[in-house]
Amino acid sequence: MMSSSQEIALGQEAFKEVLQKEKTVTSGLKYEMVQRVGEKVALAANRLYPEAVRGYKWKFALIRDNDMVNAWALPGGKCAVYTGLLPIAKNEDGLAIVMAHEVAHVIARHGAERASHGLINAVTVAGMAMSDMNKRDRVIVLGAFGIGFALPFSRTQESEADQLGLYIAADAGYDPREAIPLWRRMGKENKGAPPEFLSTHPSSKTRIQQLRGWMPKAMLYYDNATAHEEALQTTH
Ligand SMILES: [Zn+2]
Repeated sequence: MMSSSQEIALGQEAFKEVLQKEKTVTSGLKYEMVQRVGEKVALAANRLYPEAVRGYKWKFALIRDNDMVNAWALPGGKCAVYTGLLPIAKNEDGLAIVMAHEVAHVIARHGAERASHGLINAVTVAGMAMSDMNKRDRVIVLGAFGIGFALPFSRTQESEADQLGLYIAADAGYDPREAIPLWRRMGKENKGAPPEFLSTHPSSKTRIQQLRGWMPKAMLYYDNATAHEEALQTTH
């Protein structure tokens, strides 16, 4: 397994690399929404999984690409949302569910897990910066973190990200019940959508059943978070 600091360094490199190539949105309502949701999700992740996110400096980019229904997160807390995701996320709760799902992949170290299964030679990768790699290696590394689209996560990893993501979103004060219509909408988006959301995701039916199973625990996080928020509002 790659060490956590190696992963963070790689995540940082990959983030820089991708953002150099893409057009980002840096102001306006959509940008502000992504920042707001990102901050809350990051705080919840820090609260629930402090060990897993040690050394992370969270950043949430909004990439201008209306055809891309996608989002991703990298070790080190570097995350991106594509503008094409926003209409399907539909509201802030939906966006939070997706972003927390991506953050959960990182927390559960799914990219590193994949890397250590031989998809990348972790020792080689750790010794070189992304920019020194040839194109094929770069694609593999980005893919290992779920942003190359070539190497989707496994079904088990997707279920795990759904579950952790649901708890994180709920703890961030977003309604976890929105996950069900959200993943239904996402399931209908299957034409031309990138694999991260589709190829290995559990079938819609399985996924909804699993979400229902996790919902009672998620609601505890949510009720706690909203009670806390109300208490804050009454004291101000
Ligand atoms: Zn996923």
